[in-house]
Amino acid sequence: MNSQVTAAIVAIVVIIPLLSFGLWNSESPIVIEKAEGKSKITAITSFYPLYEFTKEIGGNKVDVSLLVPQGVEPHDWEPTIRDIQKIEQADLIIINGNGFEKWVDKIDSSKVSIINSGRSFGWVTEEPTQSVDYHYWLNPLSAKLQITAITDGLIEADPENADYYKNTKKDYDLKLDALHSKIKTELNGCKKDFVAFHDAFSYFAHEYDLNQHTVIQSNSPHSEPTSKKLEDIIQLAKSLDIDIIFAEEGVGIRASQVIANEIGGKVLILSPLEIVEDGSSYFKKMEENLLNLKEALCN
Ligand SMILES: [Zn+2]
Repeated sequence: MNSQVTAAIVAIVVIIPLLSFGLWNSESPIVIEKAEGKSKITAITSFYPLYEFTKEIGGNKVDVSLLVPQGVEPHDWEPTIRDIQKIEQADLIIINGNGFEKWVDKIDSSKVSIINSGRSFGWVTEEPTQSVDYHYWLNPLSAKLQITAITDGLIEADPENADYYKNTKKDYDLKLDALHSKIKTELNGCKKDFVAFHDAFSYFAHEYDLNQHTVIQSNSPHSEPTSKKLEDIIQLAKSLDIDIIFAEEGVGIRASQVIANEIGGKVLILSPLEIVEDGSSYFKKMEENLLNLKEALCN
């Protein structure tokens, strides 16, 4: 509960009417009570896309905060004891789920509702040697399912504002549908094979009928490709006539550049939206990804 907000609400709902009452009945006792059900609920979100989704749906009814600091890659992030305490004081903790947050078992679920936004998904693997992909948010239609789970969580915690959350969700869904149609239309008829840095784009590739190849075989963007893997990707890129190799913001640039040099191509960014800088947004990043994919596949 945000104490400033609570104080402001108590002032408006309780103190001011009592003071007015007191003007004509000075003997009435002034009792300050918490204005039941009128305060904002608090939601902590695991990392950037979930933060934006929850802010959009929660609007002015929810205090939303981001757990993994901006600019920090979320795969290997671990909460401190203080982070755990902060989480347990909130009404909701919204996670991606299905193993993305390896620390979730440390949370006492009797203290805070844990909302698994990935509840609709199984794990997708591109090939048996590859690790799991839980980057649902990179496909706008899977993002909608995550947002349904977030909306349900908000409604359960704050049923009084159910209609409000349903409406904000409806508006946001329309924007995601429009983005989906745009991606589908603009990549239609283009080439299908692309080289991402880590295996974040399985859901995206599946939705738009593309083939994802990756520079590293792990879902941890911090690991380095082996020289065998680099050699394999160089051969693959040559055989598929690929001339753009994707890296991420601040991650994988060097390895992707080595491959690009070998094939006489270049490096562009394909963002998994895990590290999002100030002033950017889900839609802005997805549009940038689409532009770069078009340059790689549609020329
Ligand atoms: Zn990732």
